[in-house]
Amino acid sequence: MARKPIVVGNWKMNKTIAETKAFVAAVDDKLNDKADWGIATPYLDLPAAKEAKHLIVAAEDMHFKDSGAYTGAVSAAMLKEIGVDWTILGHSERRQYFGETDETVNLKMLQALKNGINPIVCVGESEAQYDAGETHDVVKTQVVAAYKDVAKEDVEKTVIAYEPIWAIGTGKTATNEIAQDVCGYIRSVVAELYGQETADKVRIQYGGSVKPNTIKELLAQPDIDGALVGGASLKEDSYLAMVAAL
Ligand code: PGA
Repeated sequence: MARKPIVVGNWKMNKTIAETKAFVAAVDDKLNDKADWGIATPYLDLPAAKEAKHLIVAAEDMHFKDSGAYTGAVSAAMLKEIGVDWTILGHSERRQYFGETDETVNLKMLQALKNGINPIVCVGESEAQYDAGETHDVVKTQVVAAYKDVAKEDVEKTVIAYEPIWAIGTGKTATNEIAQDVCGYIRSVVAELYGQETADKVRIQYGGSVKPNTIKELLAQPDIDGALVGGASLKEDSYLAMVAAL
């Protein structure tokens, strides 16, 4: 069944408000309908990013509580107030540097969906896990944990990003075959949890050193429905080269 691809740039801790405005001015009118195109930006850049008419705008994280004593955190209501209805959750850098766990990712999934925010939930194995042949087990554990108590009718609002940690920012893209194998496996895990019809609706991205010259082949794989792109999403010309590549 046809799933529209979704390509989202993950800016991480990059770009000022002025740089965000310049990016939106250069890119927003040059998108096409081959994919849903988006950017995930630092919180402070979100209002500037929301000046875009076409780009999907996502936060890079969100807290799982409504409000309270969580210094430094941003709530779903705060994102909704400025019109942001997408967020990345569980990126490996959040898991590695900010103590994110499968449990907090799940709480954030539930909080996002309760508040009408679409989560892009990241899963993926480390290089050591890859070398040990544990990839399927690792991503299954992460997917099952992330979707605990998520209602079947909400699943198609979510996007799963498969990002092997060894491919993030390293220039080592997983081969098309590896990326397809794991994305296909993730779809089978969703099918086990929710049935094939739901699994056929959920969009699964690949992420990890995606570049303008690799995106088309990756997205041509049957179970890869988009990309989560770090480095190659930062420069206007590189982002537009991905748009042109599809
Ligand atoms: P990269 O980052 O494209 O720079 O490897 C991807 C990501 O971390 O989402």
